[in-house]
Amino acid sequence: MAQDTHFHPHCYFEGQIRPLEEAKISVTTHALQYGTGCFGGIRGYLSSDQQQIHLFRLTDHFTRLHRSARLLKIKIPLEIPELIALTCQLVSQNQVNGDVYFRPFAYKAGMQLGPNLHNVPDGFTMYCLPLGNYFESDQGLSLMVSSWTRPEDNSIPSRGKISGAYVNSSLARDEADTYGFDDAIMLNKRGKVAEASAANLFMVRDGVLITAPISADILEGITRRTLLELAQGLGMVTLEREIDRTELYICDELFLCGTGAQLTPVTRVDKRPIGSGEVGNVVRQLRNRFMAIVRGEVPEYQHWLTSVPVGVPV
Ligand code: PMP
Repeated sequence: MAQDTHFHPHCYFEGQIRPLEEAKISVTTHALQYGTGCFGGIRGYLSSDQQQIHLFRLTDHFTRLHRSARLLKIKIPLEIPELIALTCQLVSQNQVNGDVYFRPFAYKAGMQLGPNLHNVPDGFTMYCLPLGNYFESDQGLSLMVSSWTRPEDNSIPSRGKISGAYVNSSLARDEADTYGFDDAIMLNKRGKVAEASAANLFMVRDGVLITAPISADILEGITRRTLLELAQGLGMVTLEREIDRTELYICDELFLCGTGAQLTPVTRVDKRPIGSGEVGNVVRQLRNRFMAIVRGEVPEYQHWLTSVPVGVPV
């Protein structure tokens, strides 16, 4: 985690890098009223020798951001190579010296009263924050199956990271908090398992690693895709198929994954123990592999990293 005393928050806003406190938007902003924005969440990891920040899968994150923006007819003023260069510039400008999280945000910036998408001016910003673990415990979460349903593609497209869709995540997360759980698992309209409030989900049954398909109204998660590839590389059998609620109760292992969540084991759902009730071997093995890769310790996966020197101008 970056030390706050050395953290100088600068962001990209209205075409320039500037101090975060200068990046202000109007109360009339379309995206503020209607949720017509989309965002990304990207992690940078301090290398083991503390000399570099490894930014994880930038091309994939910015490709998804561009696609989310297309869904909302938002034009992002920067192409993918420019977004990558900007991220590197923010590492140096902010003198990032620890684990960091980037939040690019593209939004409808106009002040039209109607909720239309065409002829509304767009805005784009990106800021970063120091970030350690997203969940307090990595020893096993206690989750509930939410009473809130994940919106289907034809309501608010789940495949993109669309701001307005996070009202659903917030309701589910708040319900979970209220009842003393760490997070919520949402079912989709067909009653199949979708994902958690801000993370995709995997289960292990009889040695097979299973995750819901993209058509289950889930976000097209980059960590999810990463883990499918890593697991195959480790010789595991993987399957993308629909998951029933009751499978959550009888599976051998369960875990969440995402840029924030990284790999977080789940040891209880609806107060029922998962498998032995302890963190399982598959998640442990995958998590070790994943953490070694993001810290730049696995040469085979260097192509997923954009490495920038710690706090040195680029
Ligand atoms: N689902 C939702 C709803 C999310 O907000 C996130 C976090 N971005 C994820 C899944 C995981 O996606 P990723 O691995 O790309 O961070």
